[in-house]
Amino acid sequence: MAEQFDVIVVGSGVAGLSTALAARGVRVAVVTRGVIGLDGASAWAQGGIAAAIGPGDSPAQHALDTLKAGCRRNHKAAVRWMAESAPDVVRWLVDIGAEFDHIGANLALAREAAHSFPRIVHAGGDASGAEVMRALRSAVELASHIKVFERSQVRELIKLNQSVVGVAVQGAARADGEAEAFELYAPHVVMATGGIGQLFLNTTNPPECDGSGLALAHRASAELNDLEYIQFHPTALAPQQPGQGEQLPLITEALRGAGARLVNEQGQRFMLSLHEAAELAPRDILARAVWTQMERGHQVYLDARMIGDAIRQRFPTVVRSCQQRQIDPRSELIPVVPAAHYHMGGIKVDLHSMSTVPGLYAVGEVACTGVHGANRLASNSMLEGVAFGRALGERLARMPKTARIPPVGLGIWREPNKGAPISEAMVFARLRQLMWSTAGLMRYEDALESAVDQLQLLERRCLAGAKVLDQLLVGRLLVSAARKRTESIGAHSIQPRRPQVSGQAAA
Ligand SMILES: Cc1cc2nc3c(=O)[nH]c(=O)nc-3n(C[C@H](O)[C@H](O)[C@H](O)COP(=O)(O)OP(=O)(O)OC[C@H]3O[C@@H](n4cnc5c(N)ncnc54)[C@H](O)[C@@H]3O)c2cc1C
Repeated sequence: MAEQFDVIVVGSGVAGLSTALAARGVRVAVVTRGVIGLDGASAWAQGGIAAAIGPGDSPAQHALDTLKAGCRRNHKAAVRWMAESAPDVVRWLVDIGAEFDHIGANLALAREAAHSFPRIVHAGGDASGAEVMRALRSAVELASHIKVFERSQVRELIKLNQSVVGVAVQGAARADGEAEAFELYAPHVVMATGGIGQLFLNTTNPPECDGSGLALAHRASAELNDLEYIQFHPTALAPQQPGQGEQLPLITEALRGAGARLVNEQGQRFMLSLHEAAELAPRDILARAVWTQMERGHQVYLDARMIGDAIRQRFPTVVRSCQQRQIDPRSELIPVVPAAHYHMGGIKVDLHSMSTVPGLYAVGEVACTGVHGANRLASNSMLEGVAFGRALGERLARMPKTARIPPVGLGIWREPNKGAPISEAMVFARLRQLMWSTAGLMRYEDALESAVDQLQLLERRCLAGAKVLDQLLVGRLLVSAARKRTESIGAHSIQPRRPQVSGQAAA
């Protein structure tokens, strides 16, 4: 099967759906791995969306805070444009039906770390992403210009004369277990495939966030940028068994804002001696401190007992996650680990979201617009997804249409032969462990060097066409980028070799 559209959007998170909705008037295909509005990281977002709409605040101040968080490695024009667009982004989301929290007639604004003003628009307390995605999904269901392909994975970008002209898709599995393969064609293909947290052992990201969009773009010769900048969140709920690969629930930093403290199993509040702001220090400093404690053999906990009963109203998502583990945060300590959370790098795009390959665009977490620089300011990523996605959708809707379907059979993805010499699940587990221990919070040049060799070895043991090859490819590209950046900055911390410490490794 082959079908022609004006625009193909790969991914149905906040960035993909904003792009698709804004491209009103042209035929848009949305291809997504799961179910729209539910798969990807967007529905998990807790804090909300940053916008300078409070008294005394301004887009200029929002831009300045973003530049500071990004260690001024940001693309200044992109930052300025995004901060100026933010109030309109919130209005647009309200117009399509998002119900944000209010205080009286005004939108309630929360303050998050490194923001100079309260400027985070939120919904349902800490369920902002779920509400934004509910609204976007409802709007897409009513939009006649959009056709959705759910449970479908793009496995290859199709190129013709150096331009991307379509996608090869592995469709939903049939009753016999086989997946249908089909192609979609369009002059504009937008990658909105999200982040890469799943490449690390501990992550807050759901399973769809495994860097597949980066691999597709790289194989289509698009340039990738700043791959080494990964933000690690300091407090994810620790897995029940160390080393268990899964999406870990986020224990929001607003809990620390409400007074929660980081302690180790001996009750030591280790942040007091490390930073003047203690538990309110920047995310990367906290995350590295937690990692160091673990490297020394300690278990780290968040003590939120002082919040008392109020925790149930203020942090319902956190309470639910704890309850699932039989932890009562009103009377018990919450075990935490740092976890891969957000990717600042991605497909290199210009201010119009165009990649370096004609016909290929990128928005949201998979894109590197440069707005985040070397580290992301909290609650800027949902904003980035909507702001850039919406602007791109509107621009693509104005572009000339094309009716031509190129010959079928160009670079089409086919199901690889079964019976690989090594199981994909085993390779993926090894990759996540390797990435965590070598390209995680503390990086060492010698370990990165040997990680590249190990990743190449794993690649050689997989059959051509195996999905895990994409994940290995992105892992190798990231490790290579980390090796090249020999200066520690923002979220990237590197030393020549691992110092000798007593205690167990932070697995
Ligand atoms: C727990 C958590 C809390 C967060 N809290 C906040 C917050 O409060 N504020 C904030 O601004 N940011 C927050 N973030 C970050 C933010 O949620 C993400 O950066 C943002 O939602 C990414 O949106 P996206 O549309 O780019 O990607 P996603 O929402 O991740 O969507 C990616 C989509 O691509 C699809 N996809 C991937 N590969 C393929 C493929 N090959 N073929 C077809 N489809 C594919 C997936 O199925 C999915 O639909 C949080 C993240 C997490 C994990």
